[in-house]
Amino acid sequence: MAEFTMELNDEQKEVRDWLHGFAADVIRPAAAEWDEREETPWPVIQEAAKVGIYSLDFYAQQYFDASGLGIPMVMEELFWGDAGIALSIVGTGLAAVGVLANGTDEQIGTWIPQMYGDANDVKVAAFCSSEPDAGSDVASMRTRAVYDEAKDEWVINGTKTWATNGGIANVHVVVAVVDPELGSKGHASFIIPPNTPGLSQGQKFKKHGIRASHTAEVVLDDVRVPGSCLLGGKEKLDERLARAREKAKKGGERVKNAAMATFEASRPAVGAMAVGTARAAYEVALEYAQTREQFGRPIIDNQGVAFQLADMRTQIDAARLLVWRASWMAVNGKPFTAAEGSMSKLFASETAKKVTAQAIQILGGNGYTREYPVERMHRDAAIYTIFEGTSEIQRLVIARTLSGMPIR
Ligand SMILES: Cc1cc2nc3c(=O)[nH]c(=O)nc-3n(C[C@H](O)[C@H](O)[C@H](O)COP(=O)(O)OP(=O)(O)OC[C@H]3O[C@@H](n4cnc5c(N)ncnc54)[C@H](O)[C@@H]3O)c2cc1C
Repeated sequence: MAEFTMELNDEQKEVRDWLHGFAADVIRPAAAEWDEREETPWPVIQEAAKVGIYSLDFYAQQYFDASGLGIPMVMEELFWGDAGIALSIVGTGLAAVGVLANGTDEQIGTWIPQMYGDANDVKVAAFCSSEPDAGSDVASMRTRAVYDEAKDEWVINGTKTWATNGGIANVHVVVAVVDPELGSKGHASFIIPPNTPGLSQGQKFKKHGIRASHTAEVVLDDVRVPGSCLLGGKEKLDERLARAREKAKKGGERVKNAAMATFEASRPAVGAMAVGTARAAYEVALEYAQTREQFGRPIIDNQGVAFQLADMRTQIDAARLLVWRASWMAVNGKPFTAAEGSMSKLFASETAKKVTAQAIQILGGNGYTREYPVERMHRDAAIYTIFEGTSEIQRLVIARTLSGMPIR
């Protein structure tokens, strides 16, 4: 197990500076354009692939870094550049983590490379769990997967919503119900290979923020996939379902479901995205406060402004520490006994919303216009308290973990 450290090593600093350069030179200058266009920034993803930032190897290296600081560092720097574009670059990672968390070695080796494509022909992937009537309440999921034993195929029907890269992905990972009697314990994840008949994109959403990231419904109409597309395999699923049925009979011991396993692993990463956006807005506000003069002096000369900046920076640093701690714990297999993953996501996402709003206030009228980036950063920041578990759901997870009570 790696010691917990609050400092990047020399190699990590080099990677961070390289990422920062890409975020400053390629992502940030393109941010306003793709926000207005509300389209996937394929040329930027392509550029990221060319330099090695959009690649399976790079993410695997960061994901397995025992210090736990690799993924938070990547997220913070890219999202510092721009949240919408950065999500287009890292959105594939959520589907990849879904396969890493639940798949066999063979499935990992077969499907994750197809999620990324290569530098000459980049692809993206989507993780589809949410449904119109099953957002926070994952257990009310209705998408159904039925096993056709004669053909060794699964038949999947349902509608997924709010899927990042949904419909434009080369590979979709879909969570579906395999045993309705077991609630969320009766879910399993499936790979939907490229060009599978029956999968189509429903409506594409027009959003408040992260508008460069594609979000859409995914309709599954008699989608047939080979048995090998069940993540983890049939034997493991049957064992897991048998255990869940046994526990249900005995009276409700908790069993991790497929979607939650993905979200738990990714929560500190979302916290790091929020830290990146918050830091970006804080830096713009600090520079503005030092240069904008009113009443014959820089506005930072007023405690009312300077103290806001002091609070902003303090909260950003506190958020980063919670994220690093949770990420280190996750990588080193330390159980989240106080829901540390949820804590990090809750605090960092609320910080991003608060800090970006303060940045607008410090920039005054300019902050409210699209001439300056803080307006966009504030719109972007609102997503962090919603996706991968709302702030209320994080509080619920923390409170339940601390108390051991089924708090509602
Ligand atoms: C831009 C975007 C991208 C997304 N990407 C993906 C993706 O790639 N894959 C995917 O599967 N999903 C994705 N999502 C879905 C996202 O995870 C859900 O929106 C989120 O889980 C919340 O679900 P909901 O929208 O149905 O809200 P609801 O569950 O309907 O919640 C509405 C409100 O009620 C509150 N609430 C609900 N239950 C409780 C409770 N028990 N106690 C207290 N308050 C409660 C919530 O906190 C929230 O404030 C994305 C969403 C967006 C907006």
